[in-house]
Amino acid sequence: MSPLLKSKLTLVTAVYWILLSYMVAALLWWFIALDKQNRMISNIMLSELKHEDPNYYRDAVTIGNATHRKTIQFISEGTTFLVLILVGAVFVFRATRRQIKLSQQQQNFMMAVTHELKTPIAVAQLNLETLQKRQLEEDKRQMLISNTLQEANRLNALCNNILFAAQLDAGAYRSNKQEINFSDLLEGCIDSFKNRFPNRVIEEKIKESIYIIGEPLLLQMLVNNLIDNANKYANKGTPITISLDQKINQVEFSVADLGEGLAEEEKKKVFEKFYRVGEENTRKTKGTGLGLYLCKKIVQGHGGKIFVNNNQPQGSIFTVLFKIT
Ligand code: ATP
Ligand code: MG
Repeated sequence: MSPLLKSKLTLVTAVYWILLSYMVAALLWWFIALDKQNRMISNIMLSELKHEDPNYYRDAVTIGNATHRKTIQFISEGTTFLVLILVGAVFVFRATRRQIKLSQQQQNFMMAVTHELKTPIAVAQLNLETLQKRQLEEDKRQMLISNTLQEANRLNALCNNILFAAQLDAGAYRSNKQEINFSDLLEGCIDSFKNRFPNRVIEEKIKESIYIIGEPLLLQMLVNNLIDNANKYANKGTPITISLDQKINQVEFSVADLGEGLAEEEKKKVFEKFYRVGEENTRKTKGTGLGLYLCKKIVQGHGGKIFVNNNQPQGSIFTVLFKIT
């Protein structure tokens, strides 16, 4: 979190606690004042009664009862107000914190996106200019072309992620599910990944002909995001294991890597929108924090579950479970 945002959050928290303490103190003070007044009135009424009056005891008891009833009324009204104030305070507190966190994440996202969009464009421009101006040997030409293609692919994936997230937020996404061969879809994604990263070792444990009801484009997006993460967050020399299996009534798909892994407290947070582990200015990897958020949305849209566990001896395993009927 940036220092500016931290101090803003501290200020908001301090003002909030001062206001809340003031409200609770005012409520208590009201109660004490009202109770005192109540007793005073009761004492005055009692002093006005005459001892020689045959109804003295009956009237005194009536006044005592009325005073008692009033005290109970003050206590119950006060407690109701206190509970309402506290419930409201909890809501306001949570909403404010969430708003501040979201605005911080959006700011990070804007920074990341601008950078992410500009880099591939700049690289592609430079490569194309070099190809145009110079007569290069064939292998160098091929290298520049494949490098440009890789950048174009990254740009494409990024645009798909952003567009889909925007459609989801606007509630404008219409799903179009059909029965598909998930094994083939997965193989297709792995093949295109291998073309882009020929040096990365991929271990495949994929059972053939597993069918699920789903949307091919979204499922491709899910698979690509998980493989992209494993590739991005694990050292180049380590293998990525991709498995697909069918148990009695569910399909289990997982992507495992031997990277740094995720700390326990990060395991839920990484699925939040725009969330990225660590600080924006010290991070080495590129990204927008949308990938896993979309994965979660896609899996939920298919009635499934997604979670992350530790891999052995290190790294993480992202697992997706789809129910089949
Ligand atoms: P994007 O996918 O939008 O390009 P991203 O990869 O940063 O950006 P997510 O895919 O949502 O965003 O991942 C969120 C965060 O979770 C990442 O920034 C990274 O810190 C962490 N993370 C994701 N996958 C892994 C993994 N396989 N190993 C370790 N950390 C991971
Ligand atoms: Mg990602």
